[in-house]
Amino acid sequence: MRKNLFALVLTISLLVPYAVLAQTVKVTPAERRIAETIKADRLSNWLHFVASDAMGGRDTPSQGLDITAEFLKMKLSRWGLKPAGDNGTFFQNMNIISDVIVPDENTLRVGETEYFLGNHFVRLNGQGTFNSPMVFAHHGWMHRAKNIDAYNGIDVRDKVVVLYDSGFPNQNLSRRPEGLSDADITGTRGTDWADPITYATQKGAKGIIMVGSPQVEERWAQIRGFAPRGSTYVDGLRETPASPVIPILLVNRSVGDAIFQGSAGNKDSSSAFAIDRQVTGTIKSGKLSRRTQNVVALWEGSDPVLKNEMVAVGAHYDHVGTNPNAPGDDKIYNGADDDGSGTVALLAMAEALAVSKTRPKRSILFVWHAGEEKGLWGAEYFNKFPTVNIKNVIAQLNIDMIGRSRPPGDADPRNAELSGPNEVYVIGSEMMSSTLGAVTRSTNSSFLNLDYNLKYDDPNDKNRFFFRS
Ligand SMILES: [Zn+2]
Repeated sequence: MRKNLFALVLTISLLVPYAVLAQTVKVTPAERRIAETIKADRLSNWLHFVASDAMGGRDTPSQGLDITAEFLKMKLSRWGLKPAGDNGTFFQNMNIISDVIVPDENTLRVGETEYFLGNHFVRLNGQGTFNSPMVFAHHGWMHRAKNIDAYNGIDVRDKVVVLYDSGFPNQNLSRRPEGLSDADITGTRGTDWADPITYATQKGAKGIIMVGSPQVEERWAQIRGFAPRGSTYVDGLRETPASPVIPILLVNRSVGDAIFQGSAGNKDSSSAFAIDRQVTGTIKSGKLSRRTQNVVALWEGSDPVLKNEMVAVGAHYDHVGTNPNAPGDDKIYNGADDDGSGTVALLAMAEALAVSKTRPKRSILFVWHAGEEKGLWGAEYFNKFPTVNIKNVIAQLNIDMIGRSRPPGDADPRNAELSGPNEVYVIGSEMMSSTLGAVTRSTNSSFLNLDYNLKYDDPNDKNRFFFRS
């Protein structure tokens, strides 16, 4: 079954170029022979390597991902595919920039007591120094039309704003106050409404201290492990923030108690008040740059003119890495199906082409994307900074999670979303193109006869698999 699935994908990619006008195709015996050089045991061997514990779950960036890229490169180069990444190499490099805290240069003192990074506080964002009085400002939000103002009657300029929310801090630091729904967040940020960070920055605060809830307290060991790294992005894909963010800290109960010690109000107060204590601190962060890569290769077509056109096939070769807090002893997410399966499928297609006596008329472009799990980094980067003339790519076939289907008779509810025993989810071929659907359907009916499930081939599909992978 697995072999057949891979063969199907290969056949689609070989036949698309011939079928653009005809719209229906019939697999020839010669094409069938090429597809059938792909063997299940070979795919299995590669997949056991790519999804081995030694790869550490192929996080982006990571050594495991780099080793996987080297493995792909070694094969592609041996088979004679053409490097199509940066400067005649198989790699398209990307720089991943992280805002990281500088160790040993972060201090926090409330009154006379000193607190320590990790043990007592973590940085959520920003950097800077402060030596200021504090004000308590509840949830920290402002909404003009709803008459919500966390700073009502109090000036936060040159002070550190202390906030409390009963849940977990999100990217706006606290949940929206009662009575403020999604629909209310309209108009201009900073004028009509402001989240706690926007509001504190706008009003000239020196920093924000978020006092942790009981849930935060309970999971402090995990929070302190994740917190040192701030925002992470791919150089070139995102503008760096124009103005530096003021320091934003999350503190645990020991610091929270010290802040309100001797104060008239406490963290549960619903109105703002001045806290008669001084807070002093330094938060220092720097930029950490790390490299990762897409792997890009070309198999040139045989037709002197048509070979300038490309059919692209892609898969993401990254996965999500490890989770030190995962239950049990195994902390590695191996990602054999997602998307080790697509990774080795592409490799098998490259080899099948390389050992074939004939070439397709058009060229085949192979791209293994990094950082899909982080938010489609590799695909976005390749589209923004293509290493080939992307206008000549006439179709792109992406392969994700083709490693398993539901076995016959399997009623396990955890497998309910898997494709059926002889089934494959085909997404996008009908909704995107007037041709590709017909080509893939006729290819299938003249070769493998899989059941095509088109339920996700819909612009309104709520899972948005077409847009996400
Ligand atoms: Zn995936």
